[in-house]
Amino acid sequence: MPKVSTNLLFGLDKGRLKSVRHVVLDMDGTIYLGGRLFAETLPFLATLKELGIGWDFLTNNNSKSRADYVESLGQMGIVVEAEQVVMSTDACVATLRRDYPEVRRIFVLGTSGMKKDLEGAGFEVVSEDGCDAVVVGYDTSLNYESLCRAAYWIGQGKPYLATHPDLVCPTEMKTILPDCGAICALLESATGRKPDQVSGKPNPAILEAVMNRRGLTAGEVVMVGDRIYTDMRMAREAGVLGALTLTGEATRDEVTAPASTPDLIINDLGELEALLRSSRSIPL
Ligand SMILES: [Mg+2]
Repeated sequence: MPKVSTNLLFGLDKGRLKSVRHVVLDMDGTIYLGGRLFAETLPFLATLKELGIGWDFLTNNNSKSRADYVESLGQMGIVVEAEQVVMSTDACVATLRRDYPEVRRIFVLGTSGMKKDLEGAGFEVVSEDGCDAVVVGYDTSLNYESLCRAAYWIGQGKPYLATHPDLVCPTEMKTILPDCGAICALLESATGRKPDQVSGKPNPAILEAVMNRRGLTAGEVVMVGDRIYTDMRMAREAGVLGALTLTGEATRDEVTAPASTPDLIINDLGELEALLRSSRSIPL
């Protein structure tokens, strides 16, 4: 892809970057692709630290547990606290606590890592006996028997939650990775029901939860991601500055839908690093 100069769209006030105190980073396509860390990522994080800007990682991909992410990021040289990894599972837990306070026992279509995180949040993950609700995530361990079981409980009218809407997980391999949304589409064909709630990106609640937890206002946060219809749409709906990086899925030509339009397009994290650094020298 040829290098093009950074576009600041829709009259973005460069001074707005000066008030940024926290960066929320999508992971796949933003800090790495597949298992390959981008060359710009570690210098970017080092500059955030130098400038006193905090960060969290935010991902819809809950095929791994939070502990798995902390470990794999550590292997890439990124040392994070567990609380810096925010996942669609967390958003689903928040939805359950807020809207379904009676739910304790859940039937889960998800990996053992996802189940571990749900158990850590205080829910009982059941396999055979009755359940209070069905939760579907990115189940890379999907098997037919549990699919049938989930469909049965959904057909029985139990609360039905999807952790995120993604249809596929991005990959550079010669395959297609059906994600949570595709599994829910299968269940809809079988049961006639769509999920009652879909929690992860682009639902702004997950980003608002980060801001509440860290005591941040929308004007102090920038959301960086590579997907227009999830990362950028969520940023817009949460009133947060959205920076679209071209290191993953989106291309510059795709920036058309007004509801999802990013405030800023960057070729990579190195460009945002330079912008944040230069914003520090703009007089207020
Ligand atoms: Mg991504």
